[in-house]
Amino acid sequence: MTPAELARALPGVTLKDARRIVSTVHRDGDVAEPNSCVRHVAREAVVAHGHVPGLEVVSRTRSLLDPFVKFALRTSDDKVIETVRIPLERPGRFSVCVSSQVGCALACAFCATGRLGLRRNLETWEIVEQVRVVRRTLDAARGERVHGVVFQGMGEPLANLEHVLAALRVLTDPSAVAIDARKITVCTSGLPSGIRGLARQAPRVRLGWSIGTARPGARRAIMPIDAAHPLEEVYAACVEHARLTGLSPLWAVTLLAGVNDAVDDALALGRLAQRFRADTGRVPRISVIPYNRIADDASDPFRRVDEDAERRFRDALHEAGTFTHKRYSGGSDIGAACGQLAARGG
Ligand code: SF4
Repeated sequence: MTPAELARALPGVTLKDARRIVSTVHRDGDVAEPNSCVRHVAREAVVAHGHVPGLEVVSRTRSLLDPFVKFALRTSDDKVIETVRIPLERPGRFSVCVSSQVGCALACAFCATGRLGLRRNLETWEIVEQVRVVRRTLDAARGERVHGVVFQGMGEPLANLEHVLAALRVLTDPSAVAIDARKITVCTSGLPSGIRGLARQAPRVRLGWSIGTARPGARRAIMPIDAAHPLEEVYAACVEHARLTGLSPLWAVTLLAGVNDAVDDALALGRLAQRFRADTGRVPRISVIPYNRIADDASDPFRRVDEDAERRFRDALHEAGTFTHKRYSGGSDIGAACGQLAARGG
């Protein structure tokens, strides 16, 4: 909860009390301890009505390839979710890739989570707690801190909009986790009403859109959500998001050899980006993600593109006037890279 929500929920707890209580909880202090900062009556009320739940850390796995760390976390109903600690360029700064659901209903063909189906939405606190778990592994005395959060773990965050929005409020509240909203990105496979909701209710948070491909008729084969919400419909919502928030979105494409890596795919994406620029005055930041295997056996239908094909794709995009950056997707040896989170124990 944010302090305002706590003060509303508990008569007798003022906003000032609530700020102190929330701040104590997020510094991992114990609200039940007699604490001169929190009035006795407020402390009694909050201890009588609330508790601070936790997620059990089942495993913490360090990549041998790069400094990514994957956490498997068990919920109280015995589900396992995964969270990834991502090192940022500046030493001591980290981003946390959080899950928003146990499994996912959207079944994108290139994603391990999509193979699980949807088990349930995560609660607000379960989303926030993932950031707190990662933060506890950092050495604040050496200046290490969580700088950003990306909703790109297990699940489609905009299919769990209410809890994601509540988690965003806690993550950005100065008394709680205190992360700058501009350093948070919510990534969707393309749910228009959720994109509009995010724009209205969290206008400082960045939007990420996993496009798959912009080549007409090709998206549906790898992203079944396109049947319910075709590219144009999602595009219109992204335009509205940019106009309302003034933010440039991130567009992500996971390149699959022989599927969405053709020059035609690049040109279609380039044209869409140019149109977006004309419609909004904003330039989408296009991120090309290498495919990471989602199964070790023949059930994985995709291959990573080779360097030549990737270069051709980028060159075609550049010719269309669009620049890309390569997303480094780390932790592939521990199943922590983009598309690989599957919490096989959950
Ligand atoms: S990419 Fe995202 S939306 Fe698609 S199946 Fe995976 S978790 Fe779900």
